[in-house]
Amino acid sequence: MVAGIFSIIMSKTNLKSLSKDEMFDFTVSHGLPRYRADQIIHRIYEKYASSIDEITEFSKELRKALEELAFISCIRIVKRLVSSDGTEKFLFSLDDGRLIESVLITDKNRLTLCISSQVGCALGCRFCRTGKLGLTRNLKSHEIVDQVIAVNRILAEPDVITSRAHLAKDKDGVFLPRKITNIVFMGMGEPLMNFDEVVEALWKIVIFTGISRRKITLSTAGILPKLPLLPQQAPEINLAVSLNATTEASRSGIMPVNRKYPLAALIGACEKFPLGPGRRITFEYIMIKGVNDTPGDARRLVKLLRGLRCKINLIPLNHDGPDGLRPSSEKNILEFQEILDLNKMTALIRRSKGGDISAACGQLASPQL
Ligand code: SF4
Repeated sequence: MVAGIFSIIMSKTNLKSLSKDEMFDFTVSHGLPRYRADQIIHRIYEKYASSIDEITEFSKELRKALEELAFISCIRIVKRLVSSDGTEKFLFSLDDGRLIESVLITDKNRLTLCISSQVGCALGCRFCRTGKLGLTRNLKSHEIVDQVIAVNRILAEPDVITSRAHLAKDKDGVFLPRKITNIVFMGMGEPLMNFDEVVEALWKIVIFTGISRRKITLSTAGILPKLPLLPQQAPEINLAVSLNATTEASRSGIMPVNRKYPLAALIGACEKFPLGPGRRITFEYIMIKGVNDTPGDARRLVKLLRGLRCKINLIPLNHDGPDGLRPSSEKNILEFQEILDLNKMTALIRRSKGGDISAACGQLASPQL
């Protein structure tokens, strides 16, 4: 094999860009047994190797030969901010210098990473800072997955373990994991606008990182042509829909995408979305003062979602919402929730975390972008 490697002149392969089958093909086509592919996968996704030199199962000679053929790309951490509530925000630089953000939320025995699927976003939701940036480009699948690897690598560093020690046990004495357990596609970008790369990333996360598909949630503003394709092409993950309004006019007012893919059609697509046993669609409803928070809105929401297997997350807008938007009052939020409760809808009030480091919902917008 080694002689074979040296004799082949070709551009280098990014090992993180390969699926499992492609990794097998790559090793076999260079005369290596299949177990070498497993070793590479183990080093990259479980030991977070950032260079071929770290694949220590390989002899020095073999690593050198592999370096002639391949490399392991890595997004680079530029900044790590820690919120007073323990939420952490990571600013990453991509190979072309573009910047993206990921947010780590610690909650008892769950470590949830909120990841980005695009640099910026084209949809321009009024309540979202990412939407103000416009779209720069889609992320490649390995750049999406690399957010998980990079944060896991950081979490494994001894000084980070020490600095997180106060989070290591909850009040019941349960130890927190030191690896990401849950993933939400709720960072920068609309995942379904980058469909192929996101589907590939989902498969890589499930197959390579061992994170259960039940612990992965993709949130969409409702890109209707892609919604039915998701259960056909991606692993069976959880779906969240960013709803935020109960009439076409009010939704179009805060989410321009509604003019192209209207609310009524979105609800119709959700009704057809196949759900496995015990699965529900989560509807996210950002509560904005004077925009979508009246008792009438709550009653319309009940009508819209009646019969759907779903739950509703009521998310007060962050205080520094853009465009002069303000969060609903506590009283309105509680009244809204009560109407949903009385109508037997499952509705939880979700307070965004990480507001003091601009890591909360709708706040991801690196100034360097
Ligand atoms: S809320 Fe999501 S879809 Fe809307 S602009 Fe922000 S990132 Fe894009």
